[in-house]
Amino acid sequence: MAASDLSRLIAAVADTIAAHADELTALDQAIGDGDHGLNMKRGFEAVRAEADTFAAKPLPEALKAIGTKLVMTVGGASGPLFGTLFMALGKEISAEPDRAGLTIAFGKAIEAVAARGKSQIGQKTMLDVLQPVHEALAEGKTAAEIVAVADRAAQATVPMKALRGRASFLGDRSIGHMDAGARSTALLVRAVAETIERHA
Ligand code: ADP
Ligand code: MG
Repeated sequence: MAASDLSRLIAAVADTIAAHADELTALDQAIGDGDHGLNMKRGFEAVRAEADTFAAKPLPEALKAIGTKLVMTVGGASGPLFGTLFMALGKEISAEPDRAGLTIAFGKAIEAVAARGKSQIGQKTMLDVLQPVHEALAEGKTAAEIVAVADRAAQATVPMKALRGRASFLGDRSIGHMDAGARSTALLVRAVAETIERHA
């Protein structure tokens, strides 16, 4: 991937997270501790601050370095999980991936997140967006369709009962609110998919 493409992706993701930080905070306030917006903003602004360094690396090394930066800066439960997602993606992906290669690497990265979080689909977490997005990728869906899948998947966490993370402490009272990490994952998917689509 060209350095300019990766720089553009980093800017798009950081812009999207910054624009939605208050919304992510509000979601986490409802069934968590209200830090998710700030956590994500801090992490992706730290990535933005070093975007030139990351973008100069081959894609696998760039993703690993971004993941490490996220682990160090996001904090909370989500920091190590988003960090793992990017680090594992970097470990599995090739420098110039085609769609099939991206799909396989993304699947393995999701498995790494699930292992790290001891979590699985249906527990009202970021995995409830990651897995449907992976399926949509594997099925050859368009960027717009993948964005729609991610949004629907985040929405589908509303009626779920949280079984992992802080929201699980609330038991049934976690029902009726969207999971903050599912929403931030859908935002990341939108930023990446739309940026790639626009510059394809
Ligand atoms: P914290 O819960 O420590 O305050 P954040 O608010 O930044 O951390 O992140 C919360 C989000 O992290 C949740 O909305 C959920 O999507 C995700 N999450 C928490 N625990 C897990 C887990 N074990 N597996 C997958 N995702 C998780
Ligand atoms: Mg929180």
